[in-house]
Amino acid sequence: MAGKIFLNGEFVSRDKAVVSVFDHGLLYGDGVFEGIRAYGGKIFRLADHIDRLYDSAKAIRLAIPYDRPTLTAHVKSSVRENGLRDAYIRLVVTRGVGDLGLDPDKCPKPTVFIIADSITLYPKEYYDNGLAIVTVPTRRNVPEALNPRIKSLNYLNNILAKIEGKLAGCVEALMLTDSGYVCECTGDNIFCLRDNVLMTPPVYLGALKGITRGVVMDLARSRGLTVLESPFTRHELFTAEEVFLTGTAAEIVPVTNIDGRFIGDGKPGRTTRALIEDFRRSRQEGDDAYAV
Ligand code: PMP
Repeated sequence: MAGKIFLNGEFVSRDKAVVSVFDHGLLYGDGVFEGIRAYGGKIFRLADHIDRLYDSAKAIRLAIPYDRPTLTAHVKSSVRENGLRDAYIRLVVTRGVGDLGLDPDKCPKPTVFIIADSITLYPKEYYDNGLAIVTVPTRRNVPEALNPRIKSLNYLNNILAKIEGKLAGCVEALMLTDSGYVCECTGDNIFCLRDNVLMTPPVYLGALKGITRGVVMDLARSRGLTVLESPFTRHELFTAEEVFLTGTAAEIVPVTNIDGRFIGDGKPGRTTRALIEDFRRSRQEGDDAYAV
């Protein structure tokens, strides 16, 4: 369990790791975050996560009060301080304390905290048997209103979809765009494979540009697959040979049933299983700069 939490420049114990009720991160979901993993003492794709955090912050005009090398060092020390080798890291920057109005200019000091915790792995059966997912009525936010490329603290869109998925007995749920194209799941990107072509929705449709998504696209190209970022509908999913989800927590998880249709033969596909193996190998590698 995370014992020492980085909060605004210092490490504090878990019970001292508290933020104000006037913090706009809490009052309005005004802030940005990253979920990151460390494997065997190395932080996976840390530079990519740091870049995405700064991009999210830029998009909401939030000035992160550290430069990249300093914030990177704080993430590394959070893992080290907690004596972890394998970890799930939550890096959060909120607008900070303000008054009860919306105005971000009345929040002079962003709140920064980093939680490095032990990782709760998904049940093995998800990987052995694949997930059954459903399409939920809640559509993904339209990019013109709140761009899902901003990894903001405002996750209510995803939470509503998650509730609907759970009510249907599923741990993950498929969200469509406003126009009915496949977008992403509540906390994972989605891929489908047919005839050696791997497709995932383009981020301009309103999906998060997942770090795992990027890694998997590279691994798939190395396997000789054609990788396309292209809009598609549920029909392409129903008729795919294989479907899988990607995310920092899930890594790569096969999907074997969507809205009551079996995908392929209803078992995790050969390419998905190969990519899972490739991914497990690739996460051991990585830049020594991110050793904790
Ligand atoms: N989509 C959403 C909505 C997410 O919250 C996440 C997890 N952060 C992902 C996709 C997967 O992104 P990543 O691979 O960077 O974890």
